[in-house]
Amino acid sequence: MRRCPLCHNTQTWLFHRNKKRDVYTCNHCNLVFSDASAHLPPQVEKLRYQQSCQKKQSALSQFMFNLSAQCQQGTTSPLSGLNFGRVLQTSSLSKINSQQHSMVQYDPFFAPDHELLKRHYDYIGCYQVFEHFRSPFKEWALLSSMLKPGGWLAINTKLLTDLSSFDRWHHKNNPTHVSFYQHSTFEFLAEQTGFKLSFAPNDLILVQKPSGSDIKRSQS
Ligand SMILES: [Zn+2]
Repeated sequence: MRRCPLCHNTQTWLFHRNKKRDVYTCNHCNLVFSDASAHLPPQVEKLRYQQSCQKKQSALSQFMFNLSAQCQQGTTSPLSGLNFGRVLQTSSLSKINSQQHSMVQYDPFFAPDHELLKRHYDYIGCYQVFEHFRSPFKEWALLSSMLKPGGWLAINTKLLTDLSSFDRWHHKNNPTHVSFYQHSTFEFLAEQTGFKLSFAPNDLILVQKPSGSDIKRSQS
Protein backbone atom coordinates (compact mmCIF):
# COMPACT_ATOMS: atom_id res chain seq x y z
CA MET A 1 0.00 0.00 0.00
CA ARG A 2 1.35 3.41 -0.95
CA ARG A 3 -0.11 6.86 -0.51
CA CYS A 4 -1.08 8.40 -3.85
CA PRO A 5 1.24 11.37 -4.57
CA LEU A 6 -1.57 13.16 -6.41
CA CYS A 7 -4.78 12.81 -4.36
CA HIS A 8 -3.15 11.41 -1.18
CA ASN A 9 -5.61 8.54 -1.02
CA THR A 10 -4.30 5.32 0.53
CA GLN A 11 -6.50 3.06 -1.61
CA THR A 12 -3.70 2.17 -3.98
CA TRP A 13 -2.54 -1.22 -5.19
CA LEU A 14 0.50 -2.80 -6.75
CA PHE A 15 -0.22 -2.75 -10.44
CA HIS A 16 3.02 -3.75 -12.13
CA ARG A 17 6.40 -5.09 -11.05
CA ASN A 18 9.59 -5.43 -13.06
CA LYS A 19 13.27 -5.87 -12.25
CA LYS A 20 13.78 -2.19 -11.61
CA ARG A 21 10.69 -0.98 -9.79
CA ASP A 22 7.16 -1.44 -8.52
CA VAL A 23 4.34 0.59 -10.01
CA TYR A 24 1.12 1.39 -8.18
CA THR A 25 -2.24 2.74 -9.21
CA CYS A 26 -4.72 4.82 -7.24
CA ASN A 27 -8.38 3.84 -7.05
CA HIS A 28 -9.45 7.43 -6.50
CA CYS A 29 -7.69 9.56 -9.16
CA ASN A 30 -6.36 6.69 -11.35
CA LEU A 31 -2.81 7.99 -11.32
CA VAL A 32 -0.25 5.26 -12.02
CA PHE A 33 2.99 5.95 -10.17
CA SER A 34 6.31 4.30 -9.46
CA ASP A 35 7.48 3.47 -5.98
CA ALA A 36 9.46 6.37 -4.52
CA SER A 37 12.24 3.99 -3.42
CA ALA A 38 13.09 3.48 -7.11
CA HIS A 39 13.43 7.19 -7.94
CA LEU A 40 16.81 8.09 -9.38
CA PRO A 41 19.22 10.18 -7.29
CA PRO A 42 19.05 13.86 -8.39
CA GLN A 43 22.58 13.84 -9.90
CA VAL A 44 21.77 10.84 -12.09
CA GLU A 45 18.45 12.37 -13.09
CA LYS A 46 20.15 15.64 -14.04
CA LEU A 47 22.66 13.82 -16.24
CA ARG A 48 19.87 12.04 -18.10
CA TYR A 49 18.03 15.33 -18.68
CA GLN A 50 21.23 16.87 -20.06
CA GLN A 51 21.50 14.04 -22.55
CA SER A 52 17.86 14.21 -23.69
CA CYS A 53 17.70 18.03 -23.77
CA GLN A 54 19.13 18.40 -27.30
CA LYS A 55 17.01 15.65 -28.78
CA LYS A 56 13.79 17.30 -27.69
CA GLN A 57 14.62 20.88 -28.75
CA SER A 58 12.84 20.81 -32.08
CA ALA A 59 9.61 19.34 -30.71
CA LEU A 60 9.72 21.58 -27.64
CA SER A 61 10.25 24.66 -29.77
CA GLN A 62 7.33 23.74 -32.06
CA PHE A 63 5.09 23.13 -29.06
CA MET A 64 5.89 26.52 -27.50
CA PHE A 65 5.55 28.37 -30.81
CA ASN A 66 2.13 26.83 -31.44
CA LEU A 67 0.98 27.56 -27.91
CA SER A 68 2.13 31.19 -28.08
CA ALA A 69 0.54 31.70 -31.50
CA GLN A 70 -2.79 30.25 -30.41
CA CYS A 71 -2.91 32.29 -27.22
CA GLN A 72 -2.06 35.47 -29.14
CA GLN A 73 -4.86 35.02 -31.66
CA GLY A 74 -7.60 37.57 -31.26
CA THR A 75 -5.84 39.69 -28.65
CA THR A 76 -3.88 42.89 -28.94
CA SER A 77 -2.80 42.89 -25.29
CA PRO A 78 0.71 41.74 -24.45
CA LEU A 79 0.67 38.24 -23.02
CA SER A 80 3.03 36.62 -20.57
CA GLY A 81 3.90 32.97 -20.93
CA LEU A 82 5.90 30.44 -18.94
CA ASN A 83 7.73 27.43 -20.29
CA PHE A 84 7.76 25.16 -17.24
CA GLY A 85 10.06 22.20 -16.67
CA ARG A 86 12.15 21.95 -19.83
CA VAL A 87 14.56 24.56 -21.16
CA LEU A 88 14.23 26.00 -24.63
CA GLN A 89 17.37 27.19 -26.44
CA THR A 90 17.94 30.93 -26.27
CA SER A 91 17.54 31.37 -30.05
CA SER A 92 14.05 29.79 -30.03
CA LEU A 93 13.04 31.70 -26.93
CA SER A 94 14.14 35.01 -28.42
CA LYS A 95 11.99 34.38 -31.53
CA ILE A 96 8.93 34.06 -29.31
CA ASN A 97 10.02 37.14 -27.39
CA SER A 98 10.67 39.19 -30.50
CA GLN A 99 7.01 40.11 -30.65
CA GLN A 100 5.25 42.19 -28.02
CA HIS A 101 4.64 39.06 -25.96
CA SER A 102 7.07 37.58 -23.50
CA MET A 103 7.93 34.07 -22.43
CA VAL A 104 10.17 33.10 -19.53
CA GLN A 105 11.26 29.65 -18.51
CA TYR A 106 11.74 27.69 -15.35
CA ASP A 107 13.45 24.37 -14.84
CA PRO A 108 14.50 22.99 -11.43
CA PHE A 109 17.93 21.89 -12.73
CA PHE A 110 18.88 24.24 -15.56
CA ALA A 111 16.90 27.45 -14.99
CA PRO A 112 16.06 27.45 -11.27
CA ASP A 113 14.83 31.05 -10.96
CA HIS A 114 12.30 30.70 -8.16
CA GLU A 115 11.22 34.33 -8.49
CA LEU A 116 9.43 33.31 -11.71
CA LEU A 117 7.22 30.99 -9.69
CA LYS A 118 5.75 33.94 -7.78
CA ARG A 119 4.39 35.60 -10.93
CA HIS A 120 1.16 35.07 -12.83
CA TYR A 121 0.89 34.05 -16.48
CA ASP A 122 -1.62 34.10 -19.33
CA TYR A 123 -0.40 30.71 -20.44
CA ILE A 124 1.93 27.98 -19.25
CA GLY A 125 3.37 25.19 -21.37
CA CYS A 126 4.58 21.85 -19.98
CA TYR A 127 6.13 19.76 -22.71
CA GLN A 128 6.79 16.17 -21.59
CA VAL A 129 7.19 17.31 -18.02
CA PHE A 130 4.23 15.83 -16.13
CA GLU A 131 5.59 12.28 -16.34
CA HIS A 132 8.63 13.42 -14.33
CA PHE A 133 6.63 14.81 -11.40
CA ARG A 134 7.44 13.00 -8.15
CA SER A 135 4.93 15.15 -6.29
CA PRO A 136 2.19 15.79 -8.85
CA PHE A 137 -0.16 17.28 -6.24
CA LYS A 138 2.38 19.96 -5.34
CA GLU A 139 3.22 20.71 -8.97
CA TRP A 140 -0.44 20.95 -9.98
CA ALA A 141 -1.13 23.34 -7.11
CA LEU A 142 1.85 25.47 -8.15
CA LEU A 143 0.85 25.58 -11.83
CA SER A 144 -2.77 26.38 -10.91
CA SER A 145 -1.67 29.22 -8.66
CA MET A 146 0.50 30.79 -11.39
CA LEU A 147 -2.29 30.95 -13.99
CA LYS A 148 -4.21 34.19 -14.35
CA PRO A 149 -8.01 33.89 -14.42
CA GLY A 150 -8.89 32.75 -17.94
CA GLY A 151 -5.31 31.56 -18.45
CA TRP A 152 -4.35 28.38 -20.27
CA LEU A 153 -2.22 25.44 -19.24
CA ALA A 154 -1.07 23.28 -22.16
CA ILE A 155 0.31 19.88 -21.24
CA ASN A 156 1.96 17.33 -23.43
CA THR A 157 2.30 13.93 -21.81
CA LYS A 158 1.60 10.46 -23.13
CA LEU A 159 -1.76 9.38 -21.75
CA LEU A 160 -2.13 5.88 -20.44
CA THR A 161 -5.11 4.62 -22.41
CA ASP A 162 -4.89 0.87 -21.97
CA LEU A 163 -3.96 -0.53 -18.57
CA SER A 164 -3.92 -4.07 -19.89
CA SER A 165 -0.98 -3.33 -22.19
CA PHE A 166 1.10 -1.45 -19.62
CA ASP A 167 3.68 -4.27 -19.61
CA ARG A 168 4.48 -3.49 -23.24
CA TRP A 169 4.21 0.31 -22.98
CA HIS A 170 7.58 1.75 -23.99
CA HIS A 171 6.95 5.03 -22.19
CA LYS A 172 7.20 3.38 -18.76
CA ASN A 173 10.74 2.09 -19.39
CA ASN A 174 12.42 5.44 -18.83
CA PRO A 175 13.28 5.49 -15.10
CA THR A 176 12.79 9.27 -14.94
CA HIS A 177 9.13 8.74 -15.89
CA VAL A 178 7.45 8.26 -12.53
CA SER A 179 3.84 9.47 -12.95
CA PHE A 180 1.43 8.27 -15.62
CA TYR A 181 -1.98 9.81 -16.21
CA GLN A 182 -5.21 8.46 -17.61
CA HIS A 183 -7.97 10.63 -19.07
CA SER A 184 -9.81 10.18 -15.79
CA THR A 185 -6.82 11.50 -13.83
CA PHE A 186 -7.02 14.83 -15.64
CA GLU A 187 -10.80 14.82 -15.25
CA PHE A 188 -10.26 14.42 -11.51
CA LEU A 189 -7.79 17.33 -11.44
CA ALA A 190 -10.01 19.60 -13.51
CA GLU A 191 -12.98 18.88 -11.28
CA GLN A 192 -10.97 19.51 -8.12
CA THR A 193 -9.91 22.93 -9.32
CA GLY A 194 -12.99 23.89 -11.37
CA PHE A 195 -10.92 24.16 -14.55
CA LYS A 196 -12.18 23.53 -18.08
CA LEU A 197 -10.51 20.54 -19.68
CA SER A 198 -10.15 19.29 -23.23
CA PHE A 199 -8.12 16.60 -24.91
CA ALA A 200 -6.56 17.27 -28.32
CA PRO A 201 -4.62 15.02 -30.73
CA ASN A 202 -0.93 14.25 -30.20
CA ASP A 203 -1.05 13.88 -26.42
CA LEU A 204 -2.12 17.46 -25.86
CA ILE A 205 -4.20 18.27 -22.80
CA LEU A 206 -5.60 21.78 -22.50
CA VAL A 207 -6.77 23.26 -19.25
CA GLN A 208 -8.29 26.69 -18.72
CA LYS A 209 -8.68 28.47 -15.42
CA PRO A 210 -12.12 30.08 -15.17
CA SER A 211 -12.22 33.86 -15.49
CA GLY A 212 -12.83 35.85 -12.38
CA SER A 213 -12.92 32.98 -9.96
CA ASP A 214 -10.57 32.14 -7.17
CA ILE A 215 -8.67 28.94 -7.39
CA LYS A 216 -9.82 26.34 -4.91
CA ARG A 217 -6.97 24.20 -3.76
CA SER A 218 -7.61 20.72 -2.51
CA GLN A 219 -6.55 20.39 1.09
CA SER A 220 -6.48 16.61 1.05
ZN1 LIG B 1 -4.84 9.29 -6.35
